[in-house]
Amino acid sequence: MAASGVVCRQPYCPANNHTPAIAGRAFTADGKMARGKLQRGTTAGEILYLCRTLTGPGLTIAAAQTGKVYLVGAGPGDPGLLTLRAVECLQVADVVIYDQLVSERLLDWAPQAEKHCVREWGETHEQRAPRVSVMLVDYARRGKTVVRLKGGDPLIFGRGGEEFLALAEAGIPFEIVPGISAAQGAAAYMGVPLTHRSLSSAVAFITGHQAEDSTELDWASLARFPGTLAIYMGFERLGYIAEQLIRHGLPADTPAITVQWATTGKQRSAKAPLGQLAEAVRQAGLAAPAITLIGSVVGLRKTLSWWEQRPLLGRRILLIRPRAQAQTLARQLELLGAVVDVCPLLEIGPPPQPDKVRQALTQLGQGAFHWVVFTSRNGVQSTMHALWEMGADLRIFGRVRLAAIGPGTAQALAEFHLRADVVPEEYRSENLAESLLPLVHGCRVLLLRADRGRDVLPQQLSSSAEVEQVAVYSQRDITELPPIIADRLRRGEYDFIPLTSSNLARALARLLDAPMRAHLGTKTQLVALSPVTGATLRELGLPVHAEASEYTMPGLVQTLLRLAQSRSGSSQLPPR
Ligand code: SAH
Repeated sequence: MAASGVVCRQPYCPANNHTPAIAGRAFTADGKMARGKLQRGTTAGEILYLCRTLTGPGLTIAAAQTGKVYLVGAGPGDPGLLTLRAVECLQVADVVIYDQLVSERLLDWAPQAEKHCVREWGETHEQRAPRVSVMLVDYARRGKTVVRLKGGDPLIFGRGGEEFLALAEAGIPFEIVPGISAAQGAAAYMGVPLTHRSLSSAVAFITGHQAEDSTELDWASLARFPGTLAIYMGFERLGYIAEQLIRHGLPADTPAITVQWATTGKQRSAKAPLGQLAEAVRQAGLAAPAITLIGSVVGLRKTLSWWEQRPLLGRRILLIRPRAQAQTLARQLELLGAVVDVCPLLEIGPPPQPDKVRQALTQLGQGAFHWVVFTSRNGVQSTMHALWEMGADLRIFGRVRLAAIGPGTAQALAEFHLRADVVPEEYRSENLAESLLPLVHGCRVLLLRADRGRDVLPQQLSSSAEVEQVAVYSQRDITELPPIIADRLRRGEYDFIPLTSSNLARALARLLDAPMRAHLGTKTQLVALSPVTGATLRELGLPVHAEASEYTMPGLVQTLLRLAQSRSGSSQLPPR
């Protein structure tokens, strides 16, 4: 199909979930490159790919026929081990089909996509495989951009080979994005070099699945292998595998290590000479998915794994803030070793009365206000989006003075190169009112906020200033928890649920049933960002375990660290 008639619409959407850096780059690239490459004869599929790669999910294209499939490696578990290319693919995906071992956190890169987890089909590998291939071909034929996300590297024991052969046969364009495989992830997070100049000059990736079928594995060759053995799958057959290797000549005292859920907060490991490994693994209570590394290089590891010393290792934390806002905190907690689930209980939507927003911003441009006050990061982003949509830009702020409710909101302004004149050190309406009151006497103040929330700020400011409030975004409650999160709450699997606002506390209270509430205050601790949120929780009849000592995100993290330290010993996954 020729390119003529293909129209790009909406090339840049500042309200999407990208960081401004990525969005900004995409915008520049779109302006330069998409124009240059739209020549006669370029296929619609190529343009779709080109534009989407350059501009992100805000883009829509009027006509496109063939889609494309990206076979993408998700890495071993730590969301930070996803490649940049994988992120690019996820950001432009219409559909993501992912495997059971893939962390759900990676899907945060594709909020726009329709998602399918093959685990939910409840079939065996053999039954699922053809179904996946049919789905990939079907979606691509309907013009969709599909990401097939597979744990580790897609071509290492992932049946990725079978899937791309099916695509090739069907004539579907595809790309393969490599990922960090489990053996590499486990080795790095355990501090084991897979190769070493004097100890190991080769690495073998071995499947333990076919271990009892002597035609599949040549034990004699493996026992003689001049390097490190990495055994995937077959966790239940570990004893048999060790026995075969030893019987065929590998010394029983060869150092070996089994690592469960490598690179995640659920990582645990057991190290022992090969002859005793199965017993050590049993005693440590490890379970699949796990990988075993065997070879003298394992003996080089003298200290505990740097990763397993992280202070929040094994703690499961539920974040219920809107997805875009939860990301920074989620990453911080993951880097401290926690397993984080992000499940927003409030959805951010467009303003209830867009005309009022446009009207207020127009008046702002005409000099009608002395101050503009932002009460959240969402408020900043929604305002900038509205500004852009109405054909205006940052110049509308002119000489007006800006206030932000806390450091996070000030940072959101800074991302648009706007400096807040007033930022209280702690995130609270009372603090902002206190800082602003002496400055706004007799002024006209534009308060850009959510459609609901506390009225403390406008009430207090109104005593000395003329305040106009405009809702620049709306908040909608989620009515049902995703089943996986609900099950974890009912089993008391979460150690901590941080609550950053009273709205979130109310949203949580609405969704908790009796079995979930039964764990609160014991297995699951609620941690409030501020005394105001703490008071709301108590009013709702929920136990508050702690309030952050400082009402900021770093204060919240410090509180979680302190609680985790005082709880160690009662941890579900005790640090080794
Ligand atoms: N394509 C994947 C492997 C798929 S086979 C890769 O390249 O890593 C699935 C097996 O991989 C599991 O049975 C387990 O042996 C291993 N595995 C995957 N993720 C793992 C993890 N985080 N920790 C330990 N082993 C893992």
